[in-house]
Amino acid sequence: MNRKFKNFNISNKLFWGFTLIFLILVLTIITSFSYSNKIIKSTQLISHTHEVIKELANIETLLIDLETSQRGYIITGKETYLETYNNSLKIFDDKISALRKLTIDNPSQTKRIGLLRRLTKSKLKDLQSTITLRKEVGFESAKKTIVDDSGKDIMDAIRALLSNIENEETRLLKTRNIEPNETKEKNNVALIALLVISTAASTLIGIAISRSITVPVNALIQGVKVIGKGDLKHNIRLDTNEEIGQLSHAFEEMINKLISNSASKDLLENEIEARKKTELELTSTKSRIELYARNLEQKNKESEEFVYIASHDLQEPLRTIKGFTELLKIENEEILNDESNSYLEFIAQSSNRMSELIKGLLDYGRIGQEKKQIKINCDEFIDSIQMDLGSIIDETGSTFIVEKLPIIRGYKTEIRLLFQNLITNAIKYHKTGIKPIIQISAKKKNDTWQFSFKDNGLGIADEHQERIFKLFQRLHNKSEYTGTGIGLAHCRKIVELHEGEIWVESKLGLGSTFHFTLKL
Ligand code: ADP
Repeated sequence: MNRKFKNFNISNKLFWGFTLIFLILVLTIITSFSYSNKIIKSTQLISHTHEVIKELANIETLLIDLETSQRGYIITGKETYLETYNNSLKIFDDKISALRKLTIDNPSQTKRIGLLRRLTKSKLKDLQSTITLRKEVGFESAKKTIVDDSGKDIMDAIRALLSNIENEETRLLKTRNIEPNETKEKNNVALIALLVISTAASTLIGIAISRSITVPVNALIQGVKVIGKGDLKHNIRLDTNEEIGQLSHAFEEMINKLISNSASKDLLENEIEARKKTELELTSTKSRIELYARNLEQKNKESEEFVYIASHDLQEPLRTIKGFTELLKIENEEILNDESNSYLEFIAQSSNRMSELIKGLLDYGRIGQEKKQIKINCDEFIDSIQMDLGSIIDETGSTFIVEKLPIIRGYKTEIRLLFQNLITNAIKYHKTGIKPIIQISAKKKNDTWQFSFKDNGLGIADEHQERIFKLFQRLHNKSEYTGTGIGLAHCRKIVELHEGEIWVESKLGLGSTFHFTLKL
């Protein structure tokens, strides 16, 4: 029950509390009203009884007046007495009727009034007959009637009856006089009882409602104070589901949200801190990288200069070797046997090869020195390369199938070298007895052009497809195919210079397709 009352919300408690007080008030009003009605009724009855008694007195007085004026007339014979008599007679009946009306609610009194009416009638008849006798016969015979005391008997009977009626009314009056006091007392007792009940009820309801408000409100205030001091994890814990309980739950939810928000804020701040740190690190790394890049550029420049100078300087002794080998061969033609000649030939070939390698290295070092990218019409490039390689193309009977190629942006000399190396290789590494067929195409892929140079040549085994793009990597003997092993390394460096990629798809004996991408 107590738990049920606890779970009643405050508005319900207030509603039922005030309803109870209102019902007690209504009950008090009804009780007071009914008792007041009773008192009014009793008072009315008392005044009614007083009226009856007054009417009884009036009737007796009227009868005395009638008898007195009748006696006056009989003694004096004066008409004035008759006038008074007649006047009294006129109102007598009315008085009896009024009395009858007043006592109609009381059967025993009604009976007595009926008897009174009959007795007074015979009294009035007696008075009237004596007056007639006085008028018609004379004083003496009227006197005789009066003296025989018949009139007195009736009058005594009337007086006795009037006294009976009055006694009855006096008895009623006595009881009616008690009734209002009793009713008043009862009313007072009932009102006091209701007052006590309503005071007790309103006090209890007031205490219950104020406890259900003040106790949780105080707990809420205390909890809020603790939370306000920074203890966000403090639990207010109100064991009630009414409005203040709901308020505390909502408050707790808000605090929980605040905690999770401040946790995410902390996380965010940590994240920002970490990012700032990373940014600082990145900036310092960036400046370090820039320094390295500058150093590297400087070193590259120096090494390029060194390679150039070295290559240039190396060419000189090579030329000397070649020159003296030639001279040695010419001047000693007669004494040199075949073996010595072949040695000299070997020295000359190696020197040539060395010279080729140095030239290749020089070219490799020069890649990327061209500073400006320009628009390149690839179709025109292929045509001009075909023209330059005209004699070898004719010798080998090579066929070109070239699709429509795009206009790209790039370093002119490098792109030309790239195309030329791939075409030269496609022709050079053809299968014996099979004329080379070279297919060149380009298609858009995302934000690049993907070029493909396909041949029907020797093909390359899977395990070599990576390493052929490194410097001096050759798959064939120099006696089979001339070359330095620099061409594809050139190609990779050029493609990477244009931020692209190069790779090969090939099957040994089934030809190769070299793909590379260039930015749109
Ligand atoms: P090289 O001067 O030897 O041609 P490259 O760097 O151009 O040097 O090529 C490296 C090696 O890759 C070549 O020696 C050859 O064995 C192989 N190669 C290159 N192109 C082809 C091709 N189209 N078909 C088959 N093998 C090839």
